[in-house]
Amino acid sequence: MKTRLMKTLARLGLGLPVVLALLGGWLACAPRDASVAELLDLSAALPQLAAPAPAATSAATALPQDTLPKTVADVLADNTICTTDAVRALSEEIIAEANCLRPGTYVKLSESERTVFAEAVFPYLLEPARDALVLALATRKGKLTLSSMLRTVAQQYLLHEWYKAGRCGIKLAAEPGRSNHQSGLAIDVANPEKWRVPLTARGFRWLGKKDRWHFDFVGRARAEKNAAKRLAPELAGLDVKAFQRLHNLNAPTADLAETGDFDEATADALRRAPALGFAAGPSCSAVGPPGARGEPNP
Ligand SMILES: [Zn+2]
Repeated sequence: MKTRLMKTLARLGLGLPVVLALLGGWLACAPRDASVAELLDLSAALPQLAAPAPAATSAATALPQDTLPKTVADVLADNTICTTDAVRALSEEIIAEANCLRPGTYVKLSESERTVFAEAVFPYLLEPARDALVLALATRKGKLTLSSMLRTVAQQYLLHEWYKAGRCGIKLAAEPGRSNHQSGLAIDVANPEKWRVPLTARGFRWLGKKDRWHFDFVGRARAEKNAAKRLAPELAGLDVKAFQRLHNLNAPTADLAETGDFDEATADALRRAPALGFAAGPSCSAVGPPGARGEPNP
């Protein structure tokens, strides 16, 4: 039996992958809590730069060019859009710029026969979380379906606005700047019952029945906790700071303070930002071609 949400999406012409993304990803958006961020091993997150590879497919680019929203505000104004893929290009720039600011922070989980990425998933995490996920995959047979991983501030902004407006079936979404998904620490798993044991054994914490798809990477060793306490605050706003820098690179007046705080000026700039990406960016030249860096393949 179809749910009302699925029927609504069907009327909008959105298929099963989007439904999976909604059910598996957007209902699971727990706000960051300090105890989670405390446990991150950042000592392993800083090898030299890996540029995030552009995704092979995009629902946004599949749309007719003349119907594409021009700004993030246009995306919000379009009641037919319920996918963060609409800001995929902008989000890819934000990730690349974040890797300029902190080389190697976000790394890619390569898709394999063991992993299934729902539509609109950005397959990036912090390196220790990505590596722990690869190890968890090695301990159990079967497929792991990921419905959400890293989100940029642009994606989280859309989810939160849709949540506030009661749109797109979103039951819970953290404010921009307050989701562990923005830090690359969180994953949403569409089949959590199957993967709960191997994931928790590798340092992922299940959030519980209130958000049963959601796992936060918390690490295991005391050293990981200590490293996170020192560096988590800086990392928490990295994607926001990356957006602020991209905005300033492209604006006639570089008027955003590059603080990493999602303040009102940043929110306003984000609403005016091009959904398909800025003309100029990212700022560093070290961004290599997709796949330039060796990536574990589970
Ligand atoms: Zn989540």
